[in-house]
Amino acid sequence: MSVSENLKKLKDSIPSHVTLIAVSKTHPVEAISEAYNSGHKIFGENKVQEMADKCEQLPKDIEWHLIGHLQTNKVKYIAPFVHLIHSVDSLKLLQEINKQAAKNNRVINCLLQIYIAKEETKFGLSFEEAEQLINLTELKKPQNVKIVGLMGMATNTDNAEQIRNEFRSLKLFFNKLKIQNSELKILSMGMSSDYKIAIEEGSNMIRLGSIIFGERNY
Ligand SMILES: *Cc1c(COP(=O)(O)O)cnc(C)c1O
Repeated sequence: MSVSENLKKLKDSIPSHVTLIAVSKTHPVEAISEAYNSGHKIFGENKVQEMADKCEQLPKDIEWHLIGHLQTNKVKYIAPFVHLIHSVDSLKLLQEINKQAAKNNRVINCLLQIYIAKEETKFGLSFEEAEQLINLTELKKPQNVKIVGLMGMATNTDNAEQIRNEFRSLKLFFNKLKIQNSELKILSMGMSSDYKIAIEEGSNMIRLGSIIFGERNY
């Protein structure tokens, strides 16, 4: 099936409160154009340079989401246009985003990336660290950055119960934070292999790549 057919099928099946990010990393601008021409305008990339290059070549009304690890020294390249950064995992990074957003006269929306997987390699904050970061920003109130939710990735496993438990723990944490912080609205969890479980467990933003664009050959 084509990219636009894949998208249509997905959109017909996911609930309307769930935002679909089409993860276009490693795929050429032609594939993004096909999705765009079929009406989809929200795309996710995990590398700064790739996202900036694609942004330049494609229509300006695309919403670009950075979903991969972000180094402080690269924030400046995406600050002029990025719509949402899913991968904030330190105060230092948040401060740099605030600084670069100010230079561009904007407010950049961010998610805190939370570590929920039982794997050594994934980036992210623990629940405690995330809570501390949110408390700090409530005290200091940076003007050009806003934490609007959380992002998490489940363990890459066939064990559906484990994936479900990991998503569930993040949703519970999200609910708890929301009591104090009304700006938290987005819970970004779910990829091609686990998005159905993620939606059942309360996700309202899913990041799908291979199920739309096909397998990636790195
Ligand atoms: C690549 C990636 C995705 C999409 O993965 P698929 O398995 O292709 O759907 C989602 N989230 C993040 C953070 C990614 O890096």
